[in-house]
Amino acid sequence: MNEAKNGLKTPVTQLKSVGKVRAEALMRLGAETIGDLIGLYPRAYENRGDIKLLSETVNGEKSALCLTVATQPKKALIRRGMSLLKFRAYDESGTAEIIYFNQDFLADKFALGNTFRFYGKVERKKMPSGKDVFSLSSPVAEPIRESISELAPLVPIYPLSPPLNQNLMGKLISESLTYLRGDAASDFLDDDIKMRNGLAGRAFALRTIHAPLSMRELEAAKKRLIFEEFFFFSLGTAFAGRRQRPTGGAVICAENDISDLASALPYDLTGAQKRVIEEIKTDLASGTPMSRLVCGDVGCGKTVVAAAAMLIAVRSGKQAALMAPTEILATQHYGDLEKLFSSLGIKTALLCGSTPRAEKRRIYEALAECDPEKRIDIVIGTHALISDGVKFSSLGLVVNDEQHKFGVRQRSALGEKGENVHMLVMSATPIPRSLALTLYGDLDLSVIDEMPPGRQRVDTFAVDEGYRERLIAFIRKLTGEGGQVYVVCPAVEEREAEEVEDAVEGDIFMSEISTGEAFSLCFEEKNSQPELKSAVKYAEELAERLSDKKIAFVHGKMKPAEKDSVMQSFAAGEIDVLVSTTVIEVGVNVPNACLMIVENAERFGLSQLHQLRGRVGRGSRKSYCVLVSDSKSERARERLETMRKTYDGFTIAEKDLSMRGPGDFVGKNGGAVRQSGALRFRLADMLLDGELFSLAMSEAKMLLDSDPTLEAHGALLHEINELFDIDANH
Ligand code: ADP
Ligand code: MG
Repeated sequence: MNEAKNGLKTPVTQLKSVGKVRAEALMRLGAETIGDLIGLYPRAYENRGDIKLLSETVNGEKSALCLTVATQPKKALIRRGMSLLKFRAYDESGTAEIIYFNQDFLADKFALGNTFRFYGKVERKKMPSGKDVFSLSSPVAEPIRESISELAPLVPIYPLSPPLNQNLMGKLISESLTYLRGDAASDFLDDDIKMRNGLAGRAFALRTIHAPLSMRELEAAKKRLIFEEFFFFSLGTAFAGRRQRPTGGAVICAENDISDLASALPYDLTGAQKRVIEEIKTDLASGTPMSRLVCGDVGCGKTVVAAAAMLIAVRSGKQAALMAPTEILATQHYGDLEKLFSSLGIKTALLCGSTPRAEKRRIYEALAECDPEKRIDIVIGTHALISDGVKFSSLGLVVNDEQHKFGVRQRSALGEKGENVHMLVMSATPIPRSLALTLYGDLDLSVIDEMPPGRQRVDTFAVDEGYRERLIAFIRKLTGEGGQVYVVCPAVEEREAEEVEDAVEGDIFMSEISTGEAFSLCFEEKNSQPELKSAVKYAEELAERLSDKKIAFVHGKMKPAEKDSVMQSFAAGEIDVLVSTTVIEVGVNVPNACLMIVENAERFGLSQLHQLRGRVGRGSRKSYCVLVSDSKSERARERLETMRKTYDGFTIAEKDLSMRGPGDFVGKNGGAVRQSGALRFRLADMLLDGELFSLAMSEAKMLLDSDPTLEAHGALLHEINELFDIDANH
């Protein structure tokens, strides 16, 4: 086993045909070792196994043909430096002209009477006589000796870097695959896991992904490798978290009577809030740094829980810091908390990027001040808090609000301004418990699963374009009554446009290879995509229709300061209708907003929709959420129906996870996890392979329950440590 392992660690320069230049090219593709090279999966396959007759071809489409050479290849010089090789070849349905440019040396290859598999773009023209004329220009040609079955039906297409070409990559990979021999014994997955989930072996999967003999084989290989990626991911995050938790060394914050805070509030804490505060109290008094994630639905009251934690830290002689992802949120928190804390005799400050220089300097000094009488106890701000100038005299607790907007690095950067600081993380989204344990394996989990009493339900409707007029009338009515309206349009992603451009007719893209469930989703959504509302156009249209209303527009490409200023005037009631891309997702509080319209609602995940819906119904106005979609897809309808019927964030999150996978929870930029390790998915797509992810996740959990230190799984442990960059001696 060890031998095989070392084999895969062999540098690529050991391959016969790899010298310095090629090694550098491979390096650019991320392949330093044979193992890395095997991990460069094809990005697509040419479907050369689907042999067509000439008569079946379509003009301009890439096809595979089985043709016999009918005429001696003829060379011709067309102009200086440009030569032509030309011959005719036939099958039972017709004859084609084959042309190669500047490749005279091929003349000997195409001996009269020999049969080849040609693959390339077919040009097909109808002559006035009604006869079809076929030609192929520089097709790939593979000699058929005995039968067509000796040729690979699916030919991989690799990512390249000059001077590498497809041929050469194919050869290098084939050579690398010979190093896999004997590796079967070191399959990282136990047999029972493979059996339960119908997974192929590792060596088979790796060989097959590079040289599949059929679509079915390829699907099986892909399934196995995707499962493995998810499995490692689940295992690694949970495992890394377990190992990195320090014990002891933290300041004991035991002054935990918060009754004066509770009585300063205009409401009673909910049972769930009280329970979570108790959990926090226990952590703060334990002597081990707290690492706790507080997870709860929009509006469940996480802020006051954070306030309680900060109060305990301050009463215990420490300082606390609260970091929010945007200036507007930080300002909002400050507005709420400053009053509360000053009534308790605690000094607070707000520190953001836009805070004036002089004020910043004053805050820096007051934070570093040692005299508890003079220093700032609690600072609230944006990532300006992690800038170098900020030094605390005695930081004891850090709170990160809406944490999925921060990476772990930023999360810990603030904590590093103190020693063994307690950390509280507030999630903006309810995360399914199982997933939270995986994604945030380094955090303990508290769940606020109860809403403050008297919250009104936001009535939710799913409608199609047919309702447009009524919708406009509805906006008019609500704004006429003094209410405010959000309209959210999806931002079209750049990636989608690129993929379409890249596509070549006839090639099978990796993303199209089914692993069961995933395929139908991807297929369905591609084929029933309704027209996308462009947010800009929409805003203009709306402004025309509602010319007496104040309509504003925010989008992701705007500068943060511009965005903030529009949001501020919306919050101040100076704007009636705010059209935006999803930037308002973050927890801004505008109690006067009473209608949320989501355009192209089929484009959003359920949790995202729930998040958006949570923006309204925060005040006394009766509130509504209208999901607009023209999608005919069964799945889209089902999802919108779920939104109409379900109001509990956790239930929605579980549904979302099972339908779309964990992508939305992890976030576009990878969120906490992808930054925490070197692990990047090569095949897996969180949005498409949700079902496999759930399976892999529960298998990883079972394995860790039975072998918590992975001592009985040496090879796996080694792999995880390496992928996640965990120091084994830690
Ligand atoms: P989130 O969990 O989304 O961050 P917030 O902390 O912003 O929610 O709270 C939302 C609103 O609910 C705030 O206006 C807050 O004052 C109010 N609130 C919080 N806890 C309670 C409670 N126990 N009873 C009534 N209102 C509450
Ligand atoms: Mg909040």
